Amino acid sequence: MRTIEINLEAIAANYKTLKSLTDAKVMATVKADAFGHGMIEVSKKLESINVDMLATADLEEAQLIRAAGIKSPLMAWLHGKNTDFASAIKNDIQIGLSTVGGLELVASAAAKTSPAKIHLKVDTGLGRNGAALADWPKVIAKAVELEAAGLVKLVGVFSHLSGTSEKDDMDQLAVFESAVSKASELGANFEYRHLAASGATLNYKKTHLDMVRVGIALYGLDPNPDTQAASFGLVPAMRVSSEVVFVKQVPAGHGVSYGYLHKTKAATTLVLVPFGYAEGMPRIATGKASVLLNGKRYPILARVAMDQFVLDVGSDSVKVGDEVVIFGDAKKGEPTAEELADAAGTINYEIVTRIGGRARRVFR
Ligand SMILES: *Cc1c(COP(=O)(O)O)cnc(C)c1O
Repeated sequence: MRTIEINLEAIAANYKTLKSLTDAKVMATVKADAFGHGMIEVSKKLESINVDMLATADLEEAQLIRAAGIKSPLMAWLHGKNTDFASAIKNDIQIGLSTVGGLELVASAAAKTSPAKIHLKVDTGLGRNGAALADWPKVIAKAVELEAAGLVKLVGVFSHLSGTSEKDDMDQLAVFESAVSKASELGANFEYRHLAASGATLNYKKTHLDMVRVGIALYGLDPNPDTQAASFGLVPAMRVSSEVVFVKQVPAGHGVSYGYLHKTKAATTLVLVPFGYAEGMPRIATGKASVLLNGKRYPILARVAMDQFVLDVGSDSVKVGDEVVIFGDAKKGEPTAEELADAAGTINYEIVTRIGGRARRVFR
């Protein structure tokens, strides 16, 4: 009664579309369960079309990909104190690193296994991980030393943009280019310089360098409100639906759901949809979101609850089993993840990564 349809063909087509928009390699970001689309299934699909590289945030996510038998190039960049670098190296997972301490840990793991393939990250302004510019020469010197010792192989150098404005992103690009030159002066050379995520991939060709890292665009969604994925031929890969499980007639003045935010204005029909905030339907979207039922949009006027929400459909005829589309493809008249995100005061990324709960994922 709750379905998350994942169109793997759309993801494959989106990957090819993104490839066609750039001369750079395309790294597919499948972190956070492939943004809620199913990390293993998505990774297998991308492997079948020879993805250039896969990426996760955590090494643990990357390990799950290897455990599923997926052999594509793969990297991860977010590590905790007790990260098991040795098994990452054994499983040929490339490691993103920002610190001398991290390099030393990886080198000692590599001494017991084989040389680690690494990507060094520099902070060009975002203030998350990545070496601070003041620390960059020390990080590079350490990496060069470890490469000479045969413990690491420098594969990539990367950074991440803030997407604040075109000017801010171009400033970061300039900082990145100077950090890469500095690294080169110090003897560090890399196969891949990578900076752009989906937003910059679609908007700023100058940022593509040797590789782009795409996430949200791969799933056919807009990286920001000013960048329509559909205008690039990208197609949403997730469609979320439920079904009517209960229908009843009530008189005027009947309260509906917690807090009686909605009271019926006239005798009407109420229909119950078993998709609640436990499934990722944002409670805060009450009064703002709408869903599609029998070809018509209905606003969610009554409080979204844990297991369900209720629609007031007036005199329209609705029966148990009728499909309710929560979001899907605008081209088919369906609400979009973007619309639901707007209703909830958030972004589509948060909507798709949090959809789940008791809803079943079905792959096409
Ligand atoms: C999540 C992430 C991406 C992908 O971002 P999108 O905006 O979804 O394309 C790329 N790079 C890094 C470092 C990330 O954390």
